[in-house]
Amino acid sequence: MIPILDLKGQYLRIKDEIDSAVANVIDSCKFINGPQVKEFAEQLAEYTGAKYVIPVANGTDALQVSLMSLRLNPGDEIIVPSFTYIASAEVIALLNLVPVMVDVDYNSFNPTAENIQRAISRNTKAIIPVHLFGQSCPMEGILNIAKEHHLHVIEDNAQSIGAEYTFQDGTKAMTGTMGTFGCLSFFPSKNLGCMGDGGAILTNDYTMAERARMIASHGQSMKYFHEMVGCNSRLDTIQAAVLSVKLKYLNEYTKARQKAAEFYDNGLAGIKGITIPQRQKNSTHVFHQYTIKVSEGKRDGLKQFLLDNDIQTMVYYPRPLQRQQAFRGIVRYGDNLDISEQLSNEVLSIPMHTELTEETQQYIIDKIKEYAENNF
Ligand SMILES: *Cc1c(COP(=O)(O)O)cnc(C)c1O
Repeated sequence: MIPILDLKGQYLRIKDEIDSAVANVIDSCKFINGPQVKEFAEQLAEYTGAKYVIPVANGTDALQVSLMSLRLNPGDEIIVPSFTYIASAEVIALLNLVPVMVDVDYNSFNPTAENIQRAISRNTKAIIPVHLFGQSCPMEGILNIAKEHHLHVIEDNAQSIGAEYTFQDGTKAMTGTMGTFGCLSFFPSKNLGCMGDGGAILTNDYTMAERARMIASHGQSMKYFHEMVGCNSRLDTIQAAVLSVKLKYLNEYTKARQKAAEFYDNGLAGIKGITIPQRQKNSTHVFHQYTIKVSEGKRDGLKQFLLDNDIQTMVYYPRPLQRQQAFRGIVRYGDNLDISEQLSNEVLSIPMHTELTEETQQYIIDKIKEYAENNF
């Protein structure tokens, strides 16, 4: 079976380094808030260019703690795309805020500034743009709208660490560093993945950083002195040690993904019924996923055909958020959500990771071609 992801192959290349980093933590027995956590936070600040990094337990917590730091009131509205992972919108509902769902662009899979603009009401307090599959949202337009309406921006950057956005004047910024907060996940399958759960919040705002740090630590400013109700969200020391090792290789990993994407592009371009992922001109693409679109309702047919030929694929996401039972009755629709609906029927993510060989990729391309020739 050709897996969609190869964590084992990636581990084996740096096994000695990882093993000794983990062994050091075990040897020290500083399992909670060991020195490796702070070290990693500093390295991540250096890598992303963010002023402050608050390590947390996972990407969902990063979103939740960020939202809590904005001190909103029940009923306040938060704009979020409807074509994303549940976590982006779940935390909004969990805090008794109202998720307002907006549609995404068919080519980039990301929300547009226009869609967001249309969804703004008197109750809107923040926007959560999700940089899906490895590319930045159109941040210039989104930041302008946010500024005009005094809204906070929390970037869900769980999938796009290392992607770079270019503003019209030529300035560049990494995804996750442009809003009030940027949220990262180090879930093993993410571009920078640890060996369990992990996450981090990025911000350039000192006050917000202090608030987020406090909230993630039971709302305490000093041990046993609690200024607000918070939660318990810590990055595990062992995970921080793993992440410090892997962060050194992140640019290399990104290049490997981009090279694999180019090979797919060349092999899959122009096949009838198949659309390859479009590159946005203001963003680099770090290819968390390589997601094609399959027309004429034949996505599931292709998925099965590939599985029959030992190729694993995934559908991210088979059901857009507006059709999730969990949100029934508690969301507002800022838009019609037709494109999210259409994408959930057309998208197919094919194997994409740092260990792909051209031989494997060629086999995958040949099988997709074979299906397309017989079906379109
Ligand atoms: C993975 C992911 C999250 C959540 O991260 P966890 O670490 O699993 O909590 C949030 N948003 C998006 C878009 C993700 O892909």
